[in-house]
Amino acid sequence: MVCWQPIGVSMGIYDMCHRYLKERKQFGAPLAAFQINQQKLVQMLGNVQAMVLVGWRLCKLYESGKLTPGHASLGKSWISLRARETAALGRESLGGNGILADYRVAKAFCDLEPIYTFEGTYDINTLVTGREVTGFASFKPAAQRSRM
Ligand SMILES: Cc1cc2nc3c(=O)[nH]c(=O)nc-3n(C[C@H](O)[C@H](O)[C@H](O)COP(=O)(O)OP(=O)(O)OC[C@H]3O[C@@H](n4cnc5c(N)ncnc54)[C@H](O)[C@@H]3O)c2cc1C
Repeated sequence: MVCWQPIGVSMGIYDMCHRYLKERKQFGAPLAAFQINQQKLVQMLGNVQAMVLVGWRLCKLYESGKLTPGHASLGKSWISLRARETAALGRESLGGNGILADYRVAKAFCDLEPIYTFEGTYDINTLVTGREVTGFASFKPAAQRSRM
């Protein structure tokens, strides 16, 4: 569930930006006609497609009873990171309007920040996966003896 929320939000961001860049004109052309804006749009689309595939893979692992905490944490951390990146690309694609609530990308950005933190922060989720792939739990620093 925590993986699919940012996927849906990211799809909304892409959709909003896609329409906005085609409608708004600057320097006599739609923003969508400029190379850098197209590149950002494609980065967002690539993120969304990859996020969907990771979410789908997690569902398949869950259905087959093979989902581990490391799988779930990898999905949650990686997907929420990509969603944050997608929101940042969307926000800047809209220029000044990217920080206004009217265009929804700023709201999406705010909606994503809690997801990046709740159900385990990004950092902690990476450590859960790190424990599974290395066999070492790094949550707790090794005890240090004070020299004072
Ligand atoms: C919108 C929202 C809704 C929430 N809903 C719920 C809920 O319904 N139920 C619930 O129980 N909780 C809920 N939470 C709490 C959420 O789970 C915690 O905020 C989250 O687990 C982080 O804990 P913390 O805020 O105490 O941060 P801290 O533990 O103080 O962490 C601060 C920073 O230090 C890092 N850090 C901490 N420990 C380590 C470590 N061992 N190694 C490396 N880095 C570390 C963290 O990654 C983070 O970047 C919610 C939080 C938010 C923002």
